[in-house]
Amino acid sequence: MAAGLTDSGPRNLVPGKYRGVAVARVPGQLDEASLRRYFIGREAYRRTRFIVVRNGERTAILRVRKQSDEPLFAPIIEVDLVAGADECAYLHCPGVDTGIPSALAAAAIARVPGVRAAVVQGRYEHVNFIVGPAPLRVRVREIAPPQPPKLVDQAQRVLDVTETLPPMELLPDVVGLADLAAHRPSERYLVPCRGSGFDTPVAHTSYLDERPAHQIWTLVGCERSQQIHEWFYGKRADHLDICPRARPSIAGPLLTKCCLFEDGIVVEAGQATVPWGASLEQISDALVALAEAWEPAWAPA
Ligand SMILES: [Zn+2]
Repeated sequence: MAAGLTDSGPRNLVPGKYRGVAVARVPGQLDEASLRRYFIGREAYRRTRFIVVRNGERTAILRVRKQSDEPLFAPIIEVDLVAGADECAYLHCPGVDTGIPSALAAAAIARVPGVRAAVVQGRYEHVNFIVGPAPLRVRVREIAPPQPPKLVDQAQRVLDVTETLPPMELLPDVVGLADLAAHRPSERYLVPCRGSGFDTPVAHTSYLDERPAHQIWTLVGCERSQQIHEWFYGKRADHLDICPRARPSIAGPLLTKCCLFEDGIVVEAGQATVPWGASLEQISDALVALAEAWEPAWAPA
């Protein structure tokens, strides 16, 4: 496990849906020449495309080609070392679904940071691997409460069950409502509803969805709330805009939401915005769009 992650070699290499990963114990050395001698001519199962080779605690990963993929078993005719024993770790992670690229990458980075390849024996005892873990880091802009912040939580739940996305890592960029309000002192705040969880001991709070009698207040809400305010009271309120999309722009992959979006998602310059009450399906679509924008070449091996 001496060698670290280098610029050469594959990034985010993960065997896909029909993973075709076999595990073999071998008696000898795990260098390419020895493994070639050992495996060439041996029969491999029709679906086998990779072999995780183990000797004691040492592990290497091979890609193999067989004479034919038709019969149930066929002789191996080509062997390539994908990761040598010096750069490959073997991890037991009973909670990790090894079919999920993001989960594989997260396990590798958490357990053996800097190591080029990790074989993971995970949930259901399934074995899969990742070479060159380098998850796409997606900033998620959201407000809180609730806790956990909804968009961050939803996006993570989508990643946790998605087999077809490249490895991704969410970077929560969450602003607290009370912190926002502290920057705009007021004797009375108006927030969209009690469910927004806004609570400050230093001021009165009214709730827009209860349509209270008009007062002088500061609206802590999105532009849609301001429109509702205008509908109710015939004028706009002093306004603290909480919409995550209204924050200063930043570069890089971004997932955020906007109060003014009611239906579809919007992707601009590799940044995705979903509606305020986005479904898991919409968030999944947004993550797919981010993957296409930032990792267009990625495909499961
Ligand atoms: Zn908005």
